[in-house]
Amino acid sequence: MLKRLPVLFGLFLSTISSPVAQIDYKKLHFDAIVVDTHNDVLQRILSGEDISFRTPRGHSDLPRFKEGGLDVEVFSIWVPPEKTSRPYYDQADEQIDSIVSFVNRNSSHVGLARSAKEIEKLIAEGKVVAMLGMEGGHPVGGDLRKLEHFYRRGVRYLTLTWNNSTDWASSAHDETDASAKIKQKGLTAFGRQVVRRMDELGMIVDVSHVGERTFWDVMKVARKPIIASHSTAWALCHHWRNLKDDQLRAIAANGGVVFINFAPWFIDSSFAEKESAMRKRNKARIDSYRAASKVDGFLTDVAVADSLKDEYLQIRPPLKLLIDHFDYVAKLIGVDHVGIGSDFDGISVTPLDMDDVSCLPNITRELLKRGYSASDVKKILGENFLRVLQANSN
Ligand SMILES: [Zn+2]
Repeated sequence: MLKRLPVLFGLFLSTISSPVAQIDYKKLHFDAIVVDTHNDVLQRILSGEDISFRTPRGHSDLPRFKEGGLDVEVFSIWVPPEKTSRPYYDQADEQIDSIVSFVNRNSSHVGLARSAKEIEKLIAEGKVVAMLGMEGGHPVGGDLRKLEHFYRRGVRYLTLTWNNSTDWASSAHDETDASAKIKQKGLTAFGRQVVRRMDELGMIVDVSHVGERTFWDVMKVARKPIIASHSTAWALCHHWRNLKDDQLRAIAANGGVVFINFAPWFIDSSFAEKESAMRKRNKARIDSYRAASKVDGFLTDVAVADSLKDEYLQIRPPLKLLIDHFDYVAKLIGVDHVGIGSDFDGISVTPLDMDDVSCLPNITRELLKRGYSASDVKKILGENFLRVLQANSN
């Protein structure tokens, strides 16, 4: 399906002043450029699943990208901290190989983009656009040449930390957990060099997962707009992963964008407690499931959550709570600074009416219901990302 390309790069179209009820949300959604800045389906690809076809589980695959009207998906390159048998750098490189291979196998439907121009070209060809983001700076280690290598391979944003810190940047988890063993909080001198080099290369700095000390150190160094690729608002849900109001304001002042994460734990302050009670009731079932599972880690969490589907149905947050985060951030710092960063296939549970990537049009529907204009919705869906990508390119 061909999109209307002239709206691509933040050219301001006058808002069509038709009443909300008259706007066809599906038409608006499928005409717009829709970008999701964070998806972890690569972990499923690595475990042997082929997402070229519809898959019976998980949140993402090629047919469902199309059903969700998704134009640009940023695939997350992430090495779990427990996978230490080989260097982070090598594992990250192999993950990029896997995405490239997925794209090559599906070249009539998907293309890999490194720039706004390449996105434009691929969308005009009616293709789903794959981009690369790296989650956690561990593959960079202490060597800027490795950062440059990943830039050359197409990585266009780097989340400085994951839940685990790097040697040069502390994470939100480690800054808030008293038992965490970290040498220092914030960015080291090398961490500042990483941010400066990213600015020079045109790789976007991503502050999702970083601690507050690191965040404010980044703000002192970054000269280009930054992003939070998958984060939500602390004011609505006091989770250590979420961004406080002063952080949100600083991102807006920098010209950056916060892409809203769909994780129930981050959007609904009552979810963790409900989940813990539910899991206590089902402890025997969960234990036997885990004992039977040969691997540990995230994919087992997903399988466990799947086996408790009916129980989760009772406690999953309503879509309204997710939309509240879009609305809160848009009202606090402006509609130019909000976008979608689903974390699909990186979270084991999703809000109701947001089962997978095919449900993305529901966001468009709900934003229109709350009075957002068609042009505002388009910014949130994708134009804000394209603006930041362009501002970072050289
Ligand atoms: Zn993450």
